[in-house]
This record gives sequence, structure tokens and C-alpha cells, in this order.
Amino acid sequence: MISAPQRRLDKSNAQFQRAVKRLPLGVASTFRYWGDERTIYAHHGKGGRTWDIDGNSYVDYRLGYGPAILGYADERVDAAARRGMEVGGVFALSTERELIVAERVAKMVPAAELVRFSNSGTEAVMAALRLARAYTGRESYLLVEGGYHGLFDAAMWMANMDEWDAKSNRDPEVVPYGKGIPETVKHLAHLVPMNDMQRLEDTFRRHGETMAAMLIEPIQGNCCAISASRDYVQLARQLCDQYGVLLIIDEVKTGFRVGKGGIQGILGVRPDITTFAKAVANGYPISLVAGREDVMRSFRYGGASHGGTYTAHSVSLAAAEECLRILDETPALETLAGYGERLKAGVSQILSARGITHSFSGHPSMFGLFFAEAPPDNYRAWKTSDYTFYDRMAYYLHDLGIIVEPDSREPWFMCEAHGLDDSCLTDTLKAVEAAVEL
Ligand code: PLP
Repeated sequence: MISAPQRRLDKSNAQFQRAVKRLPLGVASTFRYWGDERTIYAHHGKGGRTWDIDGNSYVDYRLGYGPAILGYADERVDAAARRGMEVGGVFALSTERELIVAERVAKMVPAAELVRFSNSGTEAVMAALRLARAYTGRESYLLVEGGYHGLFDAAMWMANMDEWDAKSNRDPEVVPYGKGIPETVKHLAHLVPMNDMQRLEDTFRRHGETMAAMLIEPIQGNCCAISASRDYVQLARQLCDQYGVLLIIDEVKTGFRVGKGGIQGILGVRPDITTFAKAVANGYPISLVAGREDVMRSFRYGGASHGGTYTAHSVSLAAAEECLRILDETPALETLAGYGERLKAGVSQILSARGITHSFSGHPSMFGLFFAEAPPDNYRAWKTSDYTFYDRMAYYLHDLGIIVEPDSREPWFMCEAHGLDDSCLTDTLKAVEAAVEL
């Protein structure tokens, strides 16, 4: 049972009561609703911290689900965005800066031979899947359980763990993420559990000839940073080659975060198509579809359709140019990963001193915390584990001025500003120490 919040949230609560009359659940995105008395309205953010409208401050490990890679209101990126504003927004024409950004992306990620822009992760993955279908002339595709790839119908399928018998050798049923997703789309989606090499091979053997793509997030940014093993991703690459299936690595969360070259650089696997979004422009809306030249050239008249009124908006593009320059040319990524290491070590020390078994998943720049000897290596293992302690602790942390996702779904995200401000670490560890006592 989660207790009532210990902080004053009078203004947030009053805002909720007014907002809910005009906005469904009182918010702009369903996941921002945390209950009638716990929904927080942000006032502003700076560096690694967020302030709510009651004046409470939080060390923020959600960072807008990852985008604020440098920290909120980064002066370098914001100044660039202002320069982008002077350009004029959108023209229904291209601008020179698109090439500058594409060149930087190709330099940082060798598999990004050609680049197209979109506005959100959803749009990028949607375009990537269409591109794969256009290139292969096939329609179905493979998803990995626990992955999240955006709000479009084709991606909104998951394994039904509520009615799954872990002891049976039957797969869980495939169900939609919610209402409004047409059943007719379902027969195109195949689902496999992460890190199960045998099932991956079996699925390719049964459906490989008709699949356009395999879509994978090697660190699942919406499923506690559950990570694919190098062997699993390499097997996926090999099977894709064998069956003429395109490998799409969804780096919407990992891209320009876990390393300059993304998770693909760390795993040494070259996808055919990659999608990027969150860290590209420190929070300004922009995303990328990038990949193999012959595949990407299917974006053409008579080929795969792609575009959009706001695509490559001058503000986001200028922000992306500066953000990627910083990530490429300065030690920002080392700073934030170093912070993640120190944070993990500090949390570990506190938990170990109390004999609390724990482990971490993912990468120091985005990690999951588990109260088990080893982190789960797939969604089924996570869903059948007991994560109530984590969820309770997360709410206590909010009360103590630390924002983490209120359930263990989302990893903790680090930004450069966390690593530049010693007080973030001190405040977090003090709060973790208090939270585990509660
Ligand atoms: N792909 C991944 C891996 C994501 O984590 C997300 C969002 O969290 C998306 C796609 C969708 O991105 P967006 O919310 O920008 O549409």
C-alpha cells in the first residue's frame, strides 16, 4: 500500500482538480497521471533537477524519459535553438543544416549511411518499419517481448503475462497495449522472448521467409533496462542475413546515450536500419531513421512514402547540431556514465550494509535496479518477479526529493549535469538511505 505523499502538493492537487475538467486524467500524456493526489505538475527544470509548482525540488532521473542528456535548459543547446528560431521554422523546403546533422550522425554511427528526419520516436520507428516492408516486399515483422517502439498500431502488441502459466511451455498470448488497436494488425506481428536463442531460431525457421524486419531494443528502455546478450543480437543479425530480413535496432533511448555509437557500437552489431530520438537534441522534438544506403534509397517517389510538415524543423535541427557536437566532441557521455557508476556504487553500499539483495541492469547511463541476485534477462522473468519493494521505494524517493519512475518499468536516466553537480549524488544517496528504512 502506497502512503499519502509526505510533501506539500497543494498546488499540484489544485491544478489537477482544475485540469481534469478539461484534460483527460488532467494530463497531456496518460503516463504522467500518478493518481489524483500524486500527480505532479512541473514548474521548471535546470541541470539534473526539476521543480514542481509547489516549489519542491527533485533530483530527476526520468529526464523526460531520457531526452535531457545534458540536463534541463542547457544553455549551449538553448542558444542554438534560438538561432534556429531565427531561420523561420518550416518551409516545405529543405535547409542546409540537415546535411550538417546527417554528416555528424554518420560520423558517430557508421551504420547510419543515410539519414531521414522525423519528429518523434513513434514516427521514426513507423517509418523504419515501412521502409523495411518497401525494401523487402514483405509485411510481417518480429518484436521482442517487453520492447516498446511507440504508439502506432503495428508496435502496440505485448505478451499477456496476467494469464500465462510460467510452468507450461506455451507462449503467452499476444494482446494489444490497450483498446482501439485493430485485431487485423495482430497477425503481422510475431513476438519472441529476449535472450532465448532457441525460440529465435524456431521463429525464423517458421516465419523468416515472410518477415520484413526484426525490431529490437538491445537495452529495453521501457522494461527496466533488460538487456540483450551480445550473442543474442549477433544471432539475430545472422538469422536476418540468412532469411533476407532487415534488422532494425531501435536506439530511441540508447542512441547518443550509452556511447557515441549507441548500443550497436558496444555490441559490435551493424543493423540495416536504426531509429534515434531522445538524446539527439536534448529534448527538442526530432528523431532520425538512418541506415544502409541501398535500403534508405527506398525513400523515393514510387517507393516508401516519408515526410511530414514539421520534419527537420529549424529549431530542433539547430538544437540537434549543437547537442550532437557536444556529445561527439566533449566528454559529456563519460561524465554522465561516470556519475551512473558512482550512483550505483553508492546505492549498492547502502543496500549491502542492510543485507538487501540487489542487482542492476542496463548501462550506467540508464540502469534498472532490482531486488534480486541478478536482473531478469527477459520480460517474462520480470513480470513474474516481485517488484513491490521497488515500487514502494520509488514513491518514498519522490517524497524525499528524488524522481524515479514510480514503477520499475523505466530505468534511471543520467545526464551530464548530474555529474557536474556533486550535490545530486549526495542528495540521492541520503534519500535512498532514508527510503530503505521506511
Ligand atoms: N522507441 C523506443 C525504444 C522508446 O523508448 C520510445 C518512447 O519511449 C519510442 C520508440 C517512441 O518514442 P516517442 O515517445 O518519441 O514517440
